[in-house]
Amino acid sequence: CGVFGVFSRTEDVSMLTYLGLYALQHRGQESAGIAITDGAWMDVNRGMGLVNEVFRHQLPHMENQYIAIGHVRYSTTGSSLLANTQPLIANYCGGKISLAHNGNLTNAAEIRRSLEEQGTIFQTSIDTEVIVNLIARSRKSTIEEKIIESVAQIKGAYCLTIMTENKLIALRDPQGFRPLCIGKTEEGSWVVSSESCALDVVGAEFIRDVKPGEMVVMDDDGLKSYECVKPQKRASCIFEYIYFARPDSTIDGQSVHAARFMMGRMLARESKFKGDIVISVPDSGNTAASGFAYESGIPYCEGLIKNRYIGRTFIQPTQKKRDTAVRLKLNAIKEAVKGKSVIMVDDSIVRGTTSGKIVKMLRKAGAKEVHMCVSSPPIGYPCYYGIDTSVRKELIAATKTVEEIREYIGADSLHFLSLEGLRASLTTANPDDMCYACFNNAYPIEMSKETVTGADK
Ligand code: 5GP
Ligand code: SF4
Ligand code: MG
Repeated sequence: CGVFGVFSRTEDVSMLTYLGLYALQHRGQESAGIAITDGAWMDVNRGMGLVNEVFRHQLPHMENQYIAIGHVRYSTTGSSLLANTQPLIANYCGGKISLAHNGNLTNAAEIRRSLEEQGTIFQTSIDTEVIVNLIARSRKSTIEEKIIESVAQIKGAYCLTIMTENKLIALRDPQGFRPLCIGKTEEGSWVVSSESCALDVVGAEFIRDVKPGEMVVMDDDGLKSYECVKPQKRASCIFEYIYFARPDSTIDGQSVHAARFMMGRMLARESKFKGDIVISVPDSGNTAASGFAYESGIPYCEGLIKNRYIGRTFIQPTQKKRDTAVRLKLNAIKEAVKGKSVIMVDDSIVRGTTSGKIVKMLRKAGAKEVHMCVSSPPIGYPCYYGIDTSVRKELIAATKTVEEIREYIGADSLHFLSLEGLRASLTTANPDDMCYACFNNAYPIEMSKETVTGADK
């Protein structure tokens, strides 16, 4: 998911949030929403689909609106339903509150059950609602204290943007799983965003990343920082750099492009494949493929064309929809691959279904050999922290060896970047500050049984 927020006395907060969400669209295409306040009232506009579909006719608007938060979603917990769209909005004894969440809580089920036993009613099936209820039930006097008390009870990955009638609040979990940064526009408006690429779009300057465990509060008095939860051993999601984030973003001081390009270079060094051309599986494989070509000296060439007018196929929640979507999405360029030994670079293999179809497509287009090079190690373990790879039996590398995967996808050879190669691809970040659990089973947070069995169906 992606989150965005604006506090501004001079600019159109609704419009800026819309533009910000547009730039974060790659983080989720299932639903989008924007909540606004004028200091007295709060309103939210949410719907299923892409940002430009949801807000085709109008943006939420109030005469004196000055704070907005927004969300784009792809589901990790809770199904793809209108009721599960965000930002959530609620009235409670302290006033009005709206909240949007990127990440995944690992103890939401337990908290939810205990709240339900105490009579709390839930309207959605997303773990985000647990946080709203904890805040609403807190007996502390200020919103800052209420949030700090609530967040002490939750575990897992969470980047939150919270809006009250007079404050924009952003906070990041103590491990720093998901990215979150702060920016400021020329006119002095505060902006918070999942990724820095959205700051560029609204003309805001990057100020800094929100620190793990930190809560920042923006209001008419400026920005205040609180240590919300004690920071723990850092575990930023390496998958943001491999696949999820946009290459024009910088997360915690590490350029996504630089890391991804280096992954391609490391992959070329490790695989030592000879071939006539390097092609990418667009768009997610582009940066690594160019790094591969740069390092190997083998020419980079466009071999697959992507239809730009459809969303990410992985994100379509059912398998049947996914199948059609692949064919709709990619096509081989016969002239480019005919008679060639093709090195096909992609960022990751999850289920292996897309890759299998693409290999077949390239052969049909006349490729002599297809060597698949993947710029991340095999994903053998599910993610419980907000990336949708939680269904373990669907992960091809959970049950198959590299050779079996090669056979399954029908490639002449298959090479995955090693974990060491992946670590060495970080050009400025410390490799020890990352989570690699989906590759090495070393989960930074211990999981409740419920999370593991619940997600492992
Ligand atoms: P597969 O061959 O495993 O079916 O598909 C691999 C492709 O899925 C890669 O090109 C990768 O970019 C894409 N993909 C799309 N969404 C996701 C996601 O959320 N996680 C991962 N790991 N890969 C995804
Ligand atoms: Fe990222 Fe993988 Fe860790 Fe999930 S398990 S947070 S996808 S590195
Ligand atoms: Mg891809």
